[in-house]
Amino acid sequence: MVIIMFKSGFISIIGTPNVGKSTLLNAILGEKIAAVSPKPQTTRTQITGVVTEEDAQLIFVDTPGIHTPKNKLGRFMENEWEQSSGEADVALYMLDASSCNIEKERAILERLNCPNIFLIINKVDKVEKPKILPIIANFSAIKEFKEIIPISALNKDGLDVLISSIKKYIPEGPKFFPDDTLTDQPERQICSELIREKLMRLLSDELPYGTAVVIEKMSFDEEKELTSITATIYCERDSHKAMIIGKGGLMLKKIGTSARSDLQRFVQTKVFLQLWVKVKENWRNSDMLLKNFGYRQDN
Ligand code: GDP
Ligand code: MG
Repeated sequence: MVIIMFKSGFISIIGTPNVGKSTLLNAILGEKIAAVSPKPQTTRTQITGVVTEEDAQLIFVDTPGIHTPKNKLGRFMENEWEQSSGEADVALYMLDASSCNIEKERAILERLNCPNIFLIINKVDKVEKPKILPIIANFSAIKEFKEIIPISALNKDGLDVLISSIKKYIPEGPKFFPDDTLTDQPERQICSELIREKLMRLLSDELPYGTAVVIEKMSFDEEKELTSITATIYCERDSHKAMIIGKGGLMLKKIGTSARSDLQRFVQTKVFLQLWVKVKENWRNSDMLLKNFGYRQDN
């Protein structure tokens, strides 16, 4: 008889905006859960992805990008990554091999507090191999890494090595989630992230980060096999509202069409999507509104 020891652990993915954290989580899970966008800071709240294998369960936490906090939302997001890395069994510190600023990264790395830190050098598809060695040398001088793993999250290269290395460092433990769980995020929050991603993608650089998407209603009609979703896009100014809606409503239509196709893939039924746009000034500095938008503030 073979006795398999079951292991489980929490793995936080940390790194400055745009290094590819959400892309990695999506690649590992093979589903679109974390919002991925070429613009930084798309991920607002922590997204957890669960991978269950025969011998282990890995629970990944994708943290919002690290940046200099300018307002209450910024400070709140800042706390989240420090908290999540402190409680994790393994912290994956992720770099963009094609663009990293060692001084900025040093400041973050020095604050990183986790017994098992891996250095994940991402986007190796974008650089020539000899460029990777100096990165390894420079970063090893800052901190002791348990493992240093070059990957391409986009091409799914190096993920097997990553997963098997993580398994070495997580403790014996129970299965926290049932086998088929992909995420612990409430369905609505994932839907709102998917819609927000479209906003980020389709609107020009002028649109500031002051938009939030709230799912107002979500219901499933068994007979029609149709999920109806009503969502409100909040922005801070009338001029932003006009941009989101676009001439003759064209932009909003585009956002809706593109979001609907992702939503359908996620809920696995046809989706009827209704989008509203509302102005709520200064929501980023209001406690009440932050709570209303689903940001946890229990620290
Ligand atoms: P995050 O802010 O750290 O979560 O970064 P995202 O996952 O949103 O990725 C930011 C951008 O980098 C997106 O345009 C991704 O497609 C791109 N990206 C992520 N991983 C790779 C990679 O391995 N190679 C290349 N070439 N691009 C990547
Ligand atoms: Mg992200």
